[in-house]
Amino acid sequence: VRAIGLHGDVVVITSQVWQTTCVAVRSGDEGFVIDSPVLPEELEVLPAMLEQAQFPVSALLATHGDWDHLLGRSAFPELSLGVAESTATRLAREPGAAQRELRDFDDEWHIVRPRPLSIPTPQALPVPGKCGIGQHDLELHPAEGHTVDGMAIVVPWAQVLVVGDYLSPVEIPMISPGGSIDAYAATLERLEPLVSDARMVVPGHGAVQPRDQALAILEADRAYLEDLRQRGAEAELPEGRRSPSQQRVHAENVERLDG
Ligand SMILES: [Zn+2]
Repeated sequence: VRAIGLHGDVVVITSQVWQTTCVAVRSGDEGFVIDSPVLPEELEVLPAMLEQAQFPVSALLATHGDWDHLLGRSAFPELSLGVAESTATRLAREPGAAQRELRDFDDEWHIVRPRPLSIPTPQALPVPGKCGIGQHDLELHPAEGHTVDGMAIVVPWAQVLVVGDYLSPVEIPMISPGGSIDAYAATLERLEPLVSDARMVVPGHGAVQPRDQALAILEADRAYLEDLRQRGAEAELPEGRRSPSQQRVHAENVERLDG
């Protein structure tokens, strides 16, 4: 696991699987862990790692309901999980889906976990809205389109923006089942001023991006979506993100266009 400090109160832990990011935020003696690493070893060392860095953990948050972001309870089995209302609705509508997908992943890679994942009934947070932490507030903004649900989280005093599965340097925009190109494009519009106000942007997958680089990704993603809308399969993928796996995602996006 790699951990890098973005601010005295913000640290990012990156999983070796898909460069999935997990963000710890603290204020005084309160702290949240946003999203999660994926491998059992990474989850196992997380509590000690954060304790050593003097990051208290009082609750878990998830940017959206995809299973690879929901594993925080494996590291902190007692803690509550806060999610956007849209995510709470999604998780209630598809009970057990995250656990099933985790099991499929573990089967494929022969990964053994100490115990099955239990996801509690999450606490639904109002989005847009605020979420208190110590002396501060986190800002929550809707971020839908990749999936049917989700939120981006601003850590205002650190000028850090945690976006979930948007603005990734290693993935092209991915319209999953339940997501939509219109909602995705609207999320990019909504994120633009937030990115402009941020110093650092943490994508759900891939390296932390300084503001200007995040804005460049936003621009390239917007252009890709526009091209996808107009030319479907013929659309040009963002520069530097044209690998076979990214082309597979593109082909799935094309299928999703027709509903
Ligand atoms: Zn993801």
